[in-house]
Amino acid sequence: MNIIKISPSLMCADLANLGEEVKTLTSIKADQLHFDIMDGNFVPDIGLSHLEIKAVRHLTPLLFEAHMMIVNPLRYVGVFVEAGADIICIHAESCTNLYKVIQEIKQRGKKAGVALNPATPLCMVENILTEIDLILLMMVSPGYKVPGVKSAGYSPGVLEKASCLREIIRKKELNIDIEADGSVNEKSIVNMAGAGINVFVVGSALFDERPLSAHKIQELRNRAEKAFLEKWG
Ligand code: ZN
Repeated sequence: MNIIKISPSLMCADLANLGEEVKTLTSIKADQLHFDIMDGNFVPDIGLSHLEIKAVRHLTPLLFEAHMMIVNPLRYVGVFVEAGADIICIHAESCTNLYKVIQEIKQRGKKAGVALNPATPLCMVENILTEIDLILLMMVSPGYKVPGVKSAGYSPGVLEKASCLREIIRKKELNIDIEADGSVNEKSIVNMAGAGINVFVVGSALFDERPLSAHKIQELRNRAEKAFLEKWG
């Protein structure tokens, strides 16, 4: 198992050929696949749903991660588990009882992740760390990029948050992945890995270059691994 995991975001794939994209991502050795689920409510945009997860589940053995940018995720845990999600990542900001949703995911035998928006502090999850498998740090605000508007990039404060979290996880000897979502590219991945992040959602940094290449994924993984091990190895 790689310390560093590269998780392509299928929202950025060629949706007219989603099945082929999933097969290609499997053959070029992505570590897992990331589905951005959006309800037009928790975030202004509408994204993928359990239907896409179900449609491509039989095409790959890779783990499927459902990033639930929706209100009331408790209501949908069962639907996503049945569709084939292996990791269900809910937003701390969307839950009135975060612990209850995590229990619901764990009781169904799946991995539970908690996502934090850039401004959400670590204290939201500090008391439930032993219950979760993954913390996803939004590097930018969730939702689509506005076409034609240049992204402001990620907030450096999020890297500080990542380092603090990695220190806490170390001290408590827990086995929790820290994942970055948003603004991951060849350059930023080095700083993010140096801050203790070990799972990376990749979008345009991978999908903008055609054909999709195993070399690109390996290069991202190598860069991250070097920076991670230098600081945390
Ligand atoms: Zn995501």
